[in-house]
Amino acid sequence: MHRATKIVATIGPASSTPDILQKMIRAGLDVVRLNFSHGTADDHRQRAEMVRECARQSGREVAIMADLQGPKIRVGKFENGKTTLEPGKPFILDAECELGNDERVGLDYKDLPRDLKPADVLLLNDGLIVLDVVRVIGSEIHTTVRVGGDLSNNKGINRQGGGLTAPALTAKDMEDIRTAMSLGADFVAVSFPKNATDMEMARQLANIAGAPYGIKPKMIAKIERAEAIPALQEILDSSDGIMVARGDLAVEVGNAAVPALQKRMIRMARDSNKLVITATQMMESMIHAPVPTRAEVSDVANAVLDGTDAVMLSAESAAGKYPVETIEAMAAICVEAEKSEHSELDKDFLDRTFTRIDQSIAMGALFTAYHLGAKAIVALTDSGSTALWMSRHWTHVPIFALTPRTGSERAMSLYRNVTPLHLDTSNDRDTALQQAIEVVVSKGYAARGDMVVLTVGEPMGQPGGTNTLKIVRVGDVF
Ligand code: PGA
Ligand code: MN
Repeated sequence: MHRATKIVATIGPASSTPDILQKMIRAGLDVVRLNFSHGTADDHRQRAEMVRECARQSGREVAIMADLQGPKIRVGKFENGKTTLEPGKPFILDAECELGNDERVGLDYKDLPRDLKPADVLLLNDGLIVLDVVRVIGSEIHTTVRVGGDLSNNKGINRQGGGLTAPALTAKDMEDIRTAMSLGADFVAVSFPKNATDMEMARQLANIAGAPYGIKPKMIAKIERAEAIPALQEILDSSDGIMVARGDLAVEVGNAAVPALQKRMIRMARDSNKLVITATQMMESMIHAPVPTRAEVSDVANAVLDGTDAVMLSAESAAGKYPVETIEAMAAICVEAEKSEHSELDKDFLDRTFTRIDQSIAMGALFTAYHLGAKAIVALTDSGSTALWMSRHWTHVPIFALTPRTGSERAMSLYRNVTPLHLDTSNDRDTALQQAIEVVVSKGYAARGDMVVLTVGEPMGQPGGTNTLKIVRVGDVF
């Protein structure tokens, strides 16, 4: 079954054996997410090696995304591991408190008291607990519990409406970027960026750390704080893609605002030729249950219809009981949703002009394949940019992107409607084109007599050199 939408899955204790990982890859896993909020550098390294080995055995590339922890503000630890907060009672967040009790708890971000004023609202543990700030005295934030409940060690804190000044890259993130590059990560996801500068800084660090390994990772901005919304365009311009990080975003802007923001973010990302991942709680109930709820099925399907490149799993695949079944279910929902999507390519192209030769060829190929009813588009690409441009518009024609570069092949695992494949292009042009068609046929994607639209750069082997569009029937000789 051809599926256009990609699946990103976080791996963790529930999915760190070769057997499970192989099954997840077979079920449709395209990109593995390593969550640097948990685990040691060694854990991540071992998992990355396992991913590479399992992908090799499965005969296809799987990309690795290193997701940095970022300046997630957390409470400290408690004497007894937790406390229970009662509505109407006082509670103190104290930057200088070592070990918490029923009256107060410490903070990992010592400057938090300076960012707050009376009447601010703090949301703890993903918004399950709500505290009203009464006053700030030195290192102490005095609050009244509005919505109570159990509060345990290291739970996250957000301010309603955003506006906390913690810098986007912590010392731990900088160290984690180096680890991520040393284990060959293809994507780096930056948590809580608020503007283009945060993303530029992260990219610079990643490029420097990646240089010894020949890696320039794709940078993904996680949109999860209120300030990132007005800065969305500049964040997109400075990133390769964004993640609709609905967990923290919902806490800062309110649950109800998230669905419309998701649609806007996906539209803006595609219009800017950038990637977009929709994340968090997509199949949440499958942490414990072998089937999703109706609402989750609709959520995944709607993200597909919104035009997301990928849907993401967090605890479902990292710590849930059914990592393989979750991916199978998600893949099936994507395939079904894609069938009902209608293409509006002609409308997409209204008011568009293209100044680059390679981009014009990419758009020409897409337009031609769509109107001729071609079976496939076969793009010979070095960096993958031709495939990226084509994949920003929806048509039911699958795009096969053949590249000699493993890095490009892995990065394209995230591009909607693009199947990346390896091709050695060091041969002469005719042989390479012949081989490109053969690869697509041998994988069962096209058969003799099918019409295929090809794009290639001549002379071959120069990045950004795509300048040729060719329409062939499978079986024709070049
Ligand atoms: P997280 O990011 O899982 O790292 O918190 C995603 C989100 O906030 O939705
Ligand atoms: Mn988050």
